[in-house]
Amino acid sequence: MSLLEERWRAVLDGMAESVRSSGREAGSVRLVAVSKFHPAADIAELCRLGQRDFGENYIQEARAKQTELAGLDIRWHVIGPVQTNKARDVAGRFFLLHTLDRADLARALLRRMPEGGTQDVLLQINIGEEPQKSGVAPSCAEALCEELLQGGLVSAEGTGLCLRGLMCLPPRCGEGEEARPYFVALRKLRDRLSARTGLALPELSMGMSGDYRQAIEEGSTMIRVGTDIFGPRPVKV
Ligand SMILES: *Cc1c(COP(=O)(O)O)cnc(C)c1O
Repeated sequence: MSLLEERWRAVLDGMAESVRSSGREAGSVRLVAVSKFHPAADIAELCRLGQRDFGENYIQEARAKQTELAGLDIRWHVIGPVQTNKARDVAGRFFLLHTLDRADLARALLRRMPEGGTQDVLLQINIGEEPQKSGVAPSCAEALCEELLQGGLVSAEGTGLCLRGLMCLPPRCGEGEEARPYFVALRKLRDRLSARTGLALPELSMGMSGDYRQAIEEGSTMIRVGTDIFGPRPVKV
């Protein structure tokens, strides 16, 4: 077994264990393997083993890998911030965009959407209210939801942008337990937004290499794991 396969299996085991111990249904959490900076060959290897979901941060890198691996059955996720001028390369081209955080990006995506196309999205919440981080502040999330809904920019289903839930990237924490309060906060925000807007918002994208166990215990439906699967990221040149 390759080191890559070993690491991937260890994450699947850790995930399954947390799902079990928190009394959740088997299969209720999706593993998104975060492959940024890692070669397409690694993605292909995991795909052959059965991994379907891959997350990329940079649109150009993601599109290049999509082209290179076009024959494989992969669900591609965008997990990094998207500039408005990249909307054409995103709209309708990804399984899920985790990082919608402003109405002007939603408008740009809709303008660039292929005829009859659909793009599932999550709202990125700046859950730690860090000034340098993208994502909408928790206190502004409801207003953004209203703006997106009333403007007809998102809906629960059909064509266009479909809003599926929330995503967060908590402040860099030393260990998993420090991230837990942020995961709780995201879940509660989802419950509140869901009650106010009537949207189901079933998906919670939260948890990374250092804290996915806590995220699963707090209701994550998608963990985004890079380092624990692929090892340290090569330095970007
Ligand atoms: C890089 C990245 C990850 C993966 O982080 P690891 O600590 O390597 O597991 C998850 N989410 C986002 C948004 C990222 O940018």
